[in-house]
Amino acid sequence: MNINGKTELAGVIGYPIEHSKSPLIHNYWFEKYNINGVYVPFAVKPSDFDDVVKNLSKFGFKGVNVTVPHKIRAMELVDILSNEAKKIGAVNTIIVKNDGSLIGHNTDSFGFTQNIEQRCPNQISKGPAVLYGAGGAARAVCSALIDGNCPEIRLVNRTASNAGKLAEIMNCNKIKIVDWEYRSECIDDATLIVNSTSLGLDKSSDLPIELGKLNPKAVVVDIIYNDTKTKFLRRAAVRGNIVIDGLGMLLHQARPSFASWFGIDPEVTEELKELMFA
Ligand code: NDP
Repeated sequence: MNINGKTELAGVIGYPIEHSKSPLIHNYWFEKYNINGVYVPFAVKPSDFDDVVKNLSKFGFKGVNVTVPHKIRAMELVDILSNEAKKIGAVNTIIVKNDGSLIGHNTDSFGFTQNIEQRCPNQISKGPAVLYGAGGAARAVCSALIDGNCPEIRLVNRTASNAGKLAEIMNCNKIKIVDWEYRSECIDDATLIVNSTSLGLDKSSDLPIELGKLNPKAVVVDIIYNDTKTKFLRRAAVRGNIVIDGLGMLLHQARPSFASWFGIDPEVTEELKELMFA
């Protein structure tokens, strides 16, 4: 890396930020595509976030990613919100335009869809999906399922009121809320099962779903990305089902950000996947 007066700037803003894998991804692409750029993690306290965002253009940033806890506040600071950001109710990408104005976008749904499409094209529209979880990530997944013409989305969450809120925000008649008590029964004819809860993030925890009724043709997805072999995925894989981990979603969601800042749609390569675990 040779930083000089022409180096293009991008980064990720969060608090804390040490855990972020985004610098690895974007700096890999700078090297791969021979772009004179650098992507830096910034630990910015909530009390400083507004000032930082308002001054991005003055420092010459092409844009930034935004992560916890700033994704919702960012919606109020940008000049234009993309439809995806509006639907998901959060911004994870800010694009700084030449005139200094800011566009807020969200790329998580794109990342989710691309990760599945790459492995199992058209799987989303094949049949009913079961979606576990109703937090921030579930919003992006639910939006992707709706956009991908999933015929029925069975939304299952421990706290029923949170499932209700998500269904209300999405406002789509394909969403059927299933009580947590019936979380194992509702999988029988589903062709897509998605864990978007945080169960499995801690290696000792597991999504408490019995897989006895799992359709052998169902594709099972866990969007957790720090472990590509969660207990839930391993239990499904043992049964012979196709399983997809969350690392691909993380890598694909970075593509539209990079493309909007630097004009190249970068590739998610096996080398990049390996780099994430190096
Ligand atoms: P949130 O905190 O917003 O939501 C957590 C969800 O998990 C809620 O639905 C919550 O249910 C459920 N949950 C938590 N603990 C339990 C439990 N003990 N039993 C049952 N349900 C539980 O988190 P996010 O939505 O932001 O993130 C969820 C996961 O998605 C994380 O593991 C995160 O790393 C991953 N993720 C992956 C991405 C990727 O690119 N691959 C992108 C973003 C997130 P309740 O409503 O009842 O509390």
